[in-house]
Amino acid sequence: MPPLLVENVTKSFRQGQRVVQALAGVTLAVERGQFLAIMGASGSGKSTLLHLMAGLTTPDSGKVMVNGTELPSLTDRELTLFRRRQIGLVFQAFNLIPTLSAEENLALPLMLDGSISGADRAKVDQLIQRLGLAARRHHRPDALSGGEQQRVAIGRALVCDPAVLLADEPTGNLDSANSKAVCELLRDLSVMHGKTIVLVTHEPSVAAYAQEVAVIRDGRLVERFPVENGDGEQLAIRYQECLK
Ligand code: ADP
Ligand code: MG
Repeated sequence: MPPLLVENVTKSFRQGQRVVQALAGVTLAVERGQFLAIMGASGSGKSTLLHLMAGLTTPDSGKVMVNGTELPSLTDRELTLFRRRQIGLVFQAFNLIPTLSAEENLALPLMLDGSISGADRAKVDQLIQRLGLAARRHHRPDALSGGEQQRVAIGRALVCDPAVLLADEPTGNLDSANSKAVCELLRDLSVMHGKTIVLVTHEPSVAAYAQEVAVIRDGRLVERFPVENGDGEQLAIRYQECLK
């Protein structure tokens, strides 16, 4: 079974008198080690889909399975634990704790899970090296660049070895150099370390780092296609076609 499976999910929101259908029946599987970018215009339902995959919201109908577990079947408490261990989440905002160092922020999910073992320390060390944060490990967030803060947030999302890494517009607050570094990091995590990654973005230059693109429009998946050799221009053309 793929680590991430979404079957015919629907979700609507009430906005005053109006009911907005954010997702109108989406089916999507993500294979192990795959790096998928979900693209779509603002309001197309991207974040709603990602939040459903993360168990942050429940679908009105349909199924969400992560690593063989159906999320809506879990109690709140089970879901909290499941999320901490199986789902890595990264948002546009870095959400780091200002009084903790880079290393402490990164290790936070392990601390929440109990005391930190020797093996955990080795893992934190390895992640810090891999993320290029060795020289910054003792710095607090306000002494780090945006790109470094997002790398810490990605480390925090990965420290429990989740089945999937979900990222919602992770480069939205970054300048182009930092954005590129974060995209390259995500690609390396997928290609070199076999991480399963779902990235939400509306920017073709960011989606170009993924292996595949799924386009969502008005709450429906309209197309899914491979990214040819990281070609952002080709991707941008194909994406624009989907939005016509
Ligand atoms: P995207 O991430 O692609 O910009 P969203 O998934 O955030 O889109 O939103 C899809 C639609 O659902 C939008 O019309 C949005 O206004 C609506 N929506 C999303 N979340 C809520 C909410 N919590 N309450 C009401 N409406 C919402
Ligand atoms: Mg969004």
